[in-house]
Amino acid sequence: ARIGVVAETAPAERRVALVPAHVERLVRQGARVVCQPGAGAGACHGDDDYEQAGAEIGDAWSADVVLTVNPPGLTDIDRLSRGAVLIGFLAPATNTDGIAALRKAGVHAFAVESVPRISRAQSMDALSSQAGVAGYRAALLAADRLPRFFPMLTTAAGTVPPASVLVLGAGVAGLQALATAKRLGARTTGYDVRPEVADQVRSVGAAWLDLDVLDTSGSGTGGYARELSEAERARQQERLSEAVTRADVVITTALVPGRRAPTLVTAEAVRAMRPGSVVVDLAGEAGGNCELTVPGEDVVVHDVTVCAPLDLPSRGAVHASELYSRNLLELLELVLDDEGRLSLDMSDEILAGACVTATDEEVD
Ligand code: NAD
Repeated sequence: ARIGVVAETAPAERRVALVPAHVERLVRQGARVVCQPGAGAGACHGDDDYEQAGAEIGDAWSADVVLTVNPPGLTDIDRLSRGAVLIGFLAPATNTDGIAALRKAGVHAFAVESVPRISRAQSMDALSSQAGVAGYRAALLAADRLPRFFPMLTTAAGTVPPASVLVLGAGVAGLQALATAKRLGARTTGYDVRPEVADQVRSVGAAWLDLDVLDTSGSGTGGYARELSEAERARQQERLSEAVTRADVVITTALVPGRRAPTLVTAEAVRAMRPGSVVVDLAGEAGGNCELTVPGEDVVVHDVTVCAPLDLPSRGAVHASELYSRNLLELLELVLDDEGRLSLDMSDEILAGACVTATDEEVD
């Protein structure tokens, strides 16, 4: 099969779906790889790197299997061949027009967001690989914006206490943010509604914040959190406010699948923070965890900065691409046979789960 690596067109996107090292592996297996000119530039891979790895430079959209990071626009969907396979972040929950266009174009589209989170699919879990990069970058962003040191410093000019960093939502991104802030010397605390993550929070050197506001466990299905009741939400906001006002930095990552992100940090709590404090909200795309969040922007209120960057994985484009490319390489194992030919087994649980254009008969 011909595998296409497109040049991403989304604003501020620097990642690429397949890195040269993985092109080489696919070519060795018998596949052909065609790479759009400049596809890897944002992730520091030139066209010549791809050529050296065995790819040709050309029209990636006409390939049999097209790999992308972001959902393609309608013009790019028109460039796909009928019967082609498309794999990437396709935002199936919100991108209704795009998915309809893909179905109409006769494309087998697989959304990496929809890969089931089962053990066998762990190496294909692009949500996790990119959330790790986002969590790391969130801690760096907070350290950069905070007009204080993260570590405790004892100098001839006096002693500086460590910054205190509170992370709300201790999934993949939150744990990485905690670990990174700790390595920078901050005093760290983690909070989540899923009680089973308390040990993971402690294992990265953070204190566990137990609010005791839930009627039953906050764990839902598939390892995710459940949506809280109204009474639980009100209690949670109230008790979190105390912890928020004590922190120099609050990093929020809380998401509930298919729902608007829960509000954990109220405007009132932000106003009560010390001047110079920083909130980094990673849930911006889902509406944000902070009442003052403006997705994609920095807002300053009462001398507190609320950042809600949407491009954090892209800011670490080299490693974000490398990890994402590895996720896709593993997924391709399910799409290609041993000789690199296209061979879709739609009875495979992972492919069936990830497919967003299957008709009912195909899924049965
Ligand atoms: P996510 O991005 O959906 O959510 C981030 C965190 O926010 C979660 O820890 C969630 O519990 C928390 N949260 C939701 N509502 C909250 C609220 N009101 N208050 C505080 N916190 C709230 O989750 P994620 O990071 O993608 O993954 C969550 C978990 O899924 C992981 O920790 C892991 O245990 C599991 N997981 C399993 C696999 C696998 O088996 N293949 C892969 C990835 C993750």
